[in-house]
Amino acid sequence: MTDISREASDGHITALGSSVASDLFQILRDGRPRTRTELSAMTGLARSTVALRIDALMKLGLVGPVGDAVSTGGRPSSQFAIAASGRVVLGVDVGASHVRIAVSDLTGRLQAESNENIQVAEGPEAVLSWVSTAGKELLAELGRDSSDLLAIGIGLPGPVEYNTGRPINPPIMPGWDRFDVPGWFHESWDVPVLVDNDVNIMALGERELSWPDVDHLMFVKVATGIGSGVISGGILQRGAQGTAGDIGHVYVARGADVPCKCGNRGCLEALASGPALARDLREMGLNAETGQDVVELVKRGNIDAIQAVRQAGRDIGEVLNTCVSLINPSVIVIGGSAAQVGEHLIAGVREIVYTRSMPLATEHLQITQSKAGADAAVLGACMLAIHHALSPANIEEMVVGAPSVAKV
Ligand SMILES: [Zn+2]
Repeated sequence: MTDISREASDGHITALGSSVASDLFQILRDGRPRTRTELSAMTGLARSTVALRIDALMKLGLVGPVGDAVSTGGRPSSQFAIAASGRVVLGVDVGASHVRIAVSDLTGRLQAESNENIQVAEGPEAVLSWVSTAGKELLAELGRDSSDLLAIGIGLPGPVEYNTGRPINPPIMPGWDRFDVPGWFHESWDVPVLVDNDVNIMALGERELSWPDVDHLMFVKVATGIGSGVISGGILQRGAQGTAGDIGHVYVARGADVPCKCGNRGCLEALASGPALARDLREMGLNAETGQDVVELVKRGNIDAIQAVRQAGRDIGEVLNTCVSLINPSVIVIGGSAAQVGEHLIAGVREIVYTRSMPLATEHLQITQSKAGADAAVLGACMLAIHHALSPANIEEMVVGAPSVAKV
């Protein structure tokens, strides 16, 4: 206590002290247990300072002693690690006709979840009321109360202004335009609420499950629409307004005459999305109303459908070719419902990207199918909440704000 008391009398050192707690926590986030001595050596801090910061993080439920101490006959534990289940987050995946919610620990392990078929078109009140009730029920089921919750992450099936958490002109979400999603939750939940579009959370989930060591990853969702989530330098890139990765309306020369619902012509989405392929196959006399019908035709080995999907892969490859030049990813993951036609779509993408991109950019580039599948979105929503809650700035704020620490 004396250390902190001295620091408290000197304002700027108090601020430094809390950032030290955050630094220690960021080291422990990898899950490896460490002793105070090791942490002291890693940070260059006095062992007594490390001990005080560890105490502060333990009081917040973020760090805990590691079990080996039990065998040493009641002596204080010598090693500390992130307390994975010390606190929890909620992740929510809102789709066009379903909502899925999960509770996760601080490492992204899902502890409980719930699903419901709700049309997003029923509006924000109906959808979010179900989410709020289901979230409280899940926490109760786990014996948790709201004070254990650090944050809520939500993915929505439309464009979202990330800084405000408001959907902006979402095409399939009547009643949601500019709706204040975080503000609605704050009526009854006292935690940060992060909202993003579904493709971004799928990128976060896919990386967490399948590519945890990959810092340069592009997740491309091909379904009713086409979009992508870009992780560069280990960080999800949203751009200035949150529209980074929105590749569905990039012009592709082959489609110069094809009108798009956005009002332009030649958009990638108007050529290569599920509904676009169904339209082309209908014109050839095949029975295909939806993207799912196209998937079924491909699975049955219909040659026209296979060729259409492969061409869609080439069209997507044209646009990805530019993305590869711009951001140099090491992995491109193709997901969404059209990924069920797997290799045919990816073969088309590879055909263009591998032959047209510069050799150095493609030497180690993997283009592959989503492995996380349906779990990607809800897991990604949890990761959205975790990344925010455990960020250095947030940890610093929690340490400063915690009553037991602020007192001294
Ligand atoms: Zn368009």
